[in-house]
Amino acid sequence: MRIVRYTVNGEARYGALDAGDGIRSLTAAPFDGLVYGEERHRLSEVELLAPCEPSKIVGIGLNYRDHAGELGLELPDEPMLFLMPDTAVIGPGGTIRCPEMSERVDYEGELGIVVGRPAFRIRLEDAADYIFGYTCFNDVTARDLQVRDTQFTRSKGFDTFAPIGPWIVTDIDPGALDIETYLNGARKQCSNTRQLVFDPFYLVYFISWVMTLQPGDVIASGTPAGIGPMQPGDRVEVRIQGVGSLINDVGAWGEAPAGP
Ligand code: MG
Repeated sequence: MRIVRYTVNGEARYGALDAGDGIRSLTAAPFDGLVYGEERHRLSEVELLAPCEPSKIVGIGLNYRDHAGELGLELPDEPMLFLMPDTAVIGPGGTIRCPEMSERVDYEGELGIVVGRPAFRIRLEDAADYIFGYTCFNDVTARDLQVRDTQFTRSKGFDTFAPIGPWIVTDIDPGALDIETYLNGARKQCSNTRQLVFDPFYLVYFISWVMTLQPGDVIASGTPAGIGPMQPGDRVEVRIQGVGSLINDVGAWGEAPAGP
């Protein structure tokens, strides 16, 4: 099952996508079970939004063996967590805006884990029950600011730095999925979720012992080797086997008053 969010006549709603490009509307968020509405649409007729509305996004640092190797860093003993604000979220087709404050804005293609039930201090063996599904995530990062700051709040937190989509796939085993990132059609990242240090189930379990995960919250599970910069005018695509393809253009903010 694939779950989308979209707008029709300016109104946002959830929907279920069939095997083709047909969408059946849902009357509410899908986390407590699907309640179908009356409307049907074609994918080509609607504007897709990010497929969920996270109260928070939990990012994971250094969670691919090949990426840690690329940076010459030791594998972590436990997941390294950081938070991204909900205001960073954009959907498929949305524009990533490079802030004037940064001179290097990178893509990071990642598997996004979407939480389905409130999870607090859960057992590892129950973790699968708390995962609603998976999506593509681009953990856009102002690399120069990440190096300069101790916290990742600024480097990962700019508006538009959390593209999510195009939909949530609810019935897939996340254990061995190819994950790729393309910049202007050229493949820059190519790995497999087998390279994850901590798998999605362990991440949900681990984070739940720190904070309550809410339905719709997203965990950005880390990026593989091959990170690199983007420029205004570029197009970036995160492609995950069996999940989908998240495409975003890169732009600037345009005319703006002087900032800090
Ligand atoms: Mg990342």
